[in-house]
Amino acid sequence: MIRNVLSIAGSDPSGGAGIQADLKAFSARGVYGMAALTALTAQNTQGVSGVHPVPAEFVAEQIRAIFADVRLDAVKIGMIANAAIAEAVADALTPHEGVPIVLDPVMIAKGGTALLAADAVDILTERLLPLATLLTPNLPEAAALLHEPEAENRETMARQAEALVRLGARAVLVKGGHLAGDESPDVLASPEGLTWFEAGRVPTRNTHGTGCTLSSALAAEIAKGSTLPKAVATAKEYLAGAVAAAETLSVGTGQGPVQH
Ligand code: PLP
Repeated sequence: MIRNVLSIAGSDPSGGAGIQADLKAFSARGVYGMAALTALTAQNTQGVSGVHPVPAEFVAEQIRAIFADVRLDAVKIGMIANAAIAEAVADALTPHEGVPIVLDPVMIAKGGTALLAADAVDILTERLLPLATLLTPNLPEAAALLHEPEAENRETMARQAEALVRLGARAVLVKGGHLAGDESPDVLASPEGLTWFEAGRVPTRNTHGTGCTLSSALAAEIAKGSTLPKAVATAKEYLAGAVAAAETLSVGTGQGPVQH
């Protein structure tokens, strides 16, 4: 039976990030994809020019409509935009404990535009982190959630991953793409311990939406019943292929999307 996965995230009209990336990744990973919108953005491969959040109560109404009718095998949460939406999403998901949740704590677009209001970071930690089966911060996001400087080495990455588990996420994948140097390791922390995933840095401009794609592929693998370490390995392999295939696209003149 095909598994059902819901993305709760923002729209990217250029199709590279947000729910558009999520739905492509869901299809590519063989699950049925759905999407509840938290915000519209106006953007292209050069950057984000506008953000238009959906009223929080209507975000919750979309989620409730799906749960009232559809069996969900996993949920992915991406761009949350503001504190009211974080609260509404938490309220709508809380009655459905047992459905795995991948939480990608989207904060800032690669071009520098804020995709999460500064005053929403702590609400995200208090309300959404405890619901997460897997939290997937990059280094700046892990640092912001912990109110600490950004990790510059593996030791700090591991310590921050463990600290985020103590803050309430069941497991945390800290993504090391922002580390200086040739290596780009990710570390998975869970009550079972630490697992490292090694990767060389891919020299490419086509990184728009890589975080969205990884978290969606993770939600798909978890929905299909994978263990977390296996889901991370499979999702990373899928993302690497999508980044490599981006060379076949000709979309915009800026930071291009990946090809699912
Ligand atoms: N736009 C939306 C709606 C997103 O959800 C995200 C990331 O999660 C981005 C833009 C940022 O994409 P990137 O930083 O990969 O360019």
